[in-house]
Amino acid sequence: MLTSEQVRKRARELGADMVGIASIDRFEGAPTQMDPRQIMPEAQSVIAMGFRVMRGSLRGIEEGTFFSNYSAMGYGGLTYLYIPLVVINLCKFIEDAGHEAIPIGHQSDWRSIDNEGRLRPRYSRPVAPGKAAPDVMIHLRIAAYLAGLGEIGYSKVFLTPQFGPRQRLGVVLTEAALEPDAIYDGPELCDRCMACVQECPGSAISPSETVKVELCGRAVEWGRLDCEACCIAFRGGRAVEELAEDQQYDEPGFGHKIARNGITPFYYKPRRLYNTGEAICGGRGCLRACMIHLEKRGVLKNRFDKPFRRRQPWTVDWSAPPPDSSEESEAPDRHPGERQ
Ligand code: SF4
Ligand code: SF4
Repeated sequence: MLTSEQVRKRARELGADMVGIASIDRFEGAPTQMDPRQIMPEAQSVIAMGFRVMRGSLRGIEEGTFFSNYSAMGYGGLTYLYIPLVVINLCKFIEDAGHEAIPIGHQSDWRSIDNEGRLRPRYSRPVAPGKAAPDVMIHLRIAAYLAGLGEIGYSKVFLTPQFGPRQRLGVVLTEAALEPDAIYDGPELCDRCMACVQECPGSAISPSETVKVELCGRAVEWGRLDCEACCIAFRGGRAVEELAEDQQYDEPGFGHKIARNGITPFYYKPRRLYNTGEAICGGRGCLRACMIHLEKRGVLKNRFDKPFRRRQPWTVDWSAPPPDSSEESEAPDRHPGERQ
């Protein structure tokens, strides 16, 4: 009989940094569009895995000199390469033991709900009464919470005692009945310090408006995230009313004109890496500020000999000439293949 310990051991051997298991009954009350049982009606267990983002992958953004490494190796590479390989191989292990298993190691780009949880209009329809409209989207952070990996912070980012906000998540649904892990009840990670709110360049995390949910009988609350504001600032842009032609940073999106922000040194938004990325802000608030705060409090197990922040955070003054004015003699150009 397949045991939880065997599954945890195999997942770690394959490359997961953290593994937790939730029994399916913990998802009772999940919204239809996010309910794992809509995908696998006979599911018994949900295995959640955490994959660390290297602290070093944030170094180049912190220094303002090497942005693509976080987007590629810490974000898109994990989401579209590393995590899929681990969850697929873990599913092989579970299916070899005779239990069906679904690897969910990707972002659900086909999901029928938007970032706010609303059904996308004229997108898909349920195939039968009582079924969700495809594609269902498993809420990875809630799955990780129910599997005992950690907490959901005020920023809505998942926090673990190992790495704080510095991981991405993968999930396996399976018909194997596995002994579940306890829900995280260790030392409090998020102390509502609000560093994430204060340092978010898009003012995307509300300081006062919150979202409250009940998960497995526990009240969980986080700050309301303005996904549109995050999406713009995350790529290094800011929404403006008027836009001079030489300020245009990104294609118009969300009905806004998008100018450069002081948090991007790029003339135009760099192209995507692994179908995602473009993380110019490098989680300035929700990731880096939070990590710095949690490391200072000494609550994380992954410790370093030097603090993460060693110099004043940089900004770019786009109204001033560049420090090396010879660069201005060349007209700035779009990166090849930038339009998406
Ligand atoms: S920065 Fe502070 S308030 Fe925000 S999630 Fe981290 S610990 Fe919580
Ligand atoms: S990714 Fe950047 S813009 Fe989005 S919430 Fe985090 S700090 Fe704010």
